[in-house]
Amino acid sequence: MSHVVILGGGFGGLAAAHELRTAHPELDVTVIDRRDHFFMGFAKLWDLAGIRPLVQGTRSLDALAGRGVRFVQADVVDLDAAGRRVTIAGGEVLEADALIIALGAAKAPPHLALLEAPSAHDLYDGAALPDIHADLDAITAGRVVVSILGGPFLCPPAPFEAALAVDERLRRRGVRHAVSVAISTPQPMTLPVAGVDASRYVAQFLAERDVELLAEAKVETVADGVIGFADGRTSAYDVLLGVPAAVAPRLLVDAGLTGASGFIEPDVATLRTGVERVYAVGDCTHIPNAIGALPKAGVFAAAEGVVAATNVAADLLGTAEATFDGYGYCFLELPGERVAFVEGNFLAEPRPEVTLTEADHAQYERKVAFERERLDTWLG
Ligand SMILES: Cc1cc2nc3c(=O)[nH]c(=O)nc-3n(C[C@H](O)[C@H](O)[C@H](O)COP(=O)(O)OP(=O)(O)OC[C@H]3O[C@@H](n4cnc5c(N)ncnc54)[C@H](O)[C@@H]3O)c2cc1C
Repeated sequence: MSHVVILGGGFGGLAAAHELRTAHPELDVTVIDRRDHFFMGFAKLWDLAGIRPLVQGTRSLDALAGRGVRFVQADVVDLDAAGRRVTIAGGEVLEADALIIALGAAKAPPHLALLEAPSAHDLYDGAALPDIHADLDAITAGRVVVSILGGPFLCPPAPFEAALAVDERLRRRGVRHAVSVAISTPQPMTLPVAGVDASRYVAQFLAERDVELLAEAKVETVADGVIGFADGRTSAYDVLLGVPAAVAPRLLVDAGLTGASGFIEPDVATLRTGVERVYAVGDCTHIPNAIGALPKAGVFAAAEGVVAATNVAADLLGTAEATFDGYGYCFLELPGERVAFVEGNFLAEPRPEVTLTEADHAQYERKVAFERERLDTWLG
C-alpha cells in the first residue's frame, strides 16, 4: 500500500487527508502536527469579541484515527524532500511515497521582538487571548492600536475585524468615549487584495465607528508606549495588538524548498513542487497573481489541499488529475452578527475578479455553517 505523509494538520492538511481518505481508501495516510488540536483562525476573533470562547471551536486531531488516518503528534525537525523522508523530534524517520507539505506560516522574528514591549500582544496568537482580554477589560482611558506590522500576513480582513471588535467591546464597557481606537497598515488602503471598492467599504465602517485609519504606516519601533513609523509619524498606545508578517517555516528554507518569494513556489495549477511526488499547499506557499500573490487564507489552503491530494492519487494510482482554479472567498465580519462576503477568481487576469456583497445576518450564518461543516467533516 502506498503511503502519503501530510505535514501539518491545519486547513490544507486536513482537507487533503479527508480527500485522500474518502476518494482513495487504498492509500495509507499519515498526518503529522506538533499540535494535538485544530481551530479556525477566525475563532480567535470570536473569542476576542466575546462571542464564543476559543475552546468551543477547537477539535482534537485524535479524531483523525476514527477516519482511518494515522495521526502523529510531533515536531517535524528535518525534511529530505527528494528522499521523501521526514524526521520527527526524537529521531523517528517516516518514509513516504508522496508528501503534501501543509505546514502553514511562521511569524517574522523581528515583529515578534517588537511585540515583547509592555502591553503589546500578538493578535494572531491564541495563547495571548487571556492577556489581551485582561488589558482590554482594564483600560478606562487611553488608546488601543491594532498594527499590521508587515506583509504578507494571514487573512487580510482579520486585523480590521479585530479593530471593530475592540471598538464594540469598549462601547459595551461604557469606556469608548475615553479610549481612542486606531489601526495602522503599511498598505495604502485597507484591503488591496480585494480591490478599491472593498477597501472603501472597510474604511467607511472604520470611520463610522470612529476607528482611526493610519495607512502607509510601517511600524519601525515600539517602545515606552509609543509606536514609531518609518516616515517619522508616531502613535501613542496603551494596548497594542500587532499582526506579524508571515514567513515560511525555517525547516522548509533549510530543506531548500523555498524560492525568491521566501515561500515554496509550487506549480499554481497542480501544487506540485519541483521535487517528484512532493506537493505544497496553503500559507507555506507563494501563489503569484496579477496583483502580487494569493492571500494567505484557509479557504485557499483547503482548496489547494484537495487538488494536491487528487494529484498525489493520480501519481500513485493513475487516477484523474485536478487543477486549482483560484476561486476563493472570505467573510468580512462586522459587529452585530453581520458578514460581508468577498468572492471571486483571485487568479484572473489582468486583475482578480472579486465581488463584495454587503454585510447581512444571512452571511454571518453562512460563516457559522462554514466552520461547523468543516469541523464535522474533517474531525467530527
Ligand atoms: C485571526 C485570524 C482569522 C482568520 N480568518 C480567516 C477566515 O475568515 N477565512 C480564511 O479562509 N482564513 C482565515 N484565516 C487564515 C487561516 O487561518 C490560514 O490561512 C490557514 O490556517 C492556512 O492553512 P494552512 O494549512 O496553510 O496552515 P495552518 O492551518 O496554519 O496549519 C499548519 C499546521 O502545521 C503545523 N506545523 C507547523 N510547523 C510544524 C512542524 N515543524 N512540525 C509539526 N507541525 C508543524 C502547525 O501546528 C499547524 O497546525 C485567519 C487567520 C487568523 C490568524
